[in-house]
Amino acid sequence: MKILHTKQEMRAAVAAWKEAGESIGLVPTMGFLHEGHASLIRASVRDNDHTVVSVFVNPMQFSPGEDLARYPRDMAHDTAVCEREGADVIFHPAPEEMYGQPFYTYTDMNVIPDGLCGASRPAMFRGVCTVCSKLFHLASPDRAYFGKKDAQQLAVIRRMVQDLDFNLTVVGCESVREPDGLAMSSRNTYLSSEERSKAPAIYRALCHVKQLVENGEKESAVLRQGFEEEISRTEGLAVEYCAVVNAGDMQETSAVQGDGSCLMAVALRLGKTRLIDNIEL
Ligand code: AMP
Repeated sequence: MKILHTKQEMRAAVAAWKEAGESIGLVPTMGFLHEGHASLIRASVRDNDHTVVSVFVNPMQFSPGEDLARYPRDMAHDTAVCEREGADVIFHPAPEEMYGQPFYTYTDMNVIPDGLCGASRPAMFRGVCTVCSKLFHLASPDRAYFGKKDAQQLAVIRRMVQDLDFNLTVVGCESVREPDGLAMSSRNTYLSSEERSKAPAIYRALCHVKQLVENGEKESAVLRQGFEEEISRTEGLAVEYCAVVNAGDMQETSAVQGDGSCLMAVALRLGKTRLIDNIEL
């Protein structure tokens, strides 16, 4: 496995594979890899001749005051995970390599990024779309792998690929959870042990909502109330948003269809940490 730091090296590796008619899978990450990332890498290794894992903490998707400087990093661990899972290349560019100066061009989107995480993190989806556009050009993947845990991001990327005619398939992968239900996230490392013991309440409350739907409840307002009531049993968890949305465009809906096309998407604060999760309804 190779670790490549420059765009030129990345393009050269890809050109050789393309020449040989071999397929490429791309797994974009911000590193500090866990089992959720590993499941994406495994899916790519299964589906493609070659797998590129990008490890890049993308400054463009952080707003001032967010956790860019303290975002966890561990390249030795990430290298071991990628090696173990059979990736061919880690693409690990420096920010200056990705964003030369001056830099004037962005990939932006309307509608899907406006609510939910986009409402409180204004820079995020413009940064995600711009970096993924660049990664798609550099790695020329046949398939790109994203986690359903970040449901709004997955919807944004699917839309961008369709709207801008990127010649690749977006593969959405199931959320990987800790045994107690907490969705794995690099940011879980911010939690104190007391906070960590409270965090599984999020998935418990989402499962409670799913149960309400299975019992016949369809009204989004009732489902949101059900989530908030469950969460209120755990001190210290503050709901930032809780919305019932269509998975395709992440727009709020007043009632679920009951066919799995809707999600409850949530973001909560626990101390200084912001956690997101969702469940299919
Ligand atoms: P990140 O490094 O957090 O930007 O995530 C990189 C990719 O891994 C994104 O497509 C995420 O949706 C995905 N991912 C992160 N956590 C999980 C998880 N627990 N299960 C599945 N995919 C995940």
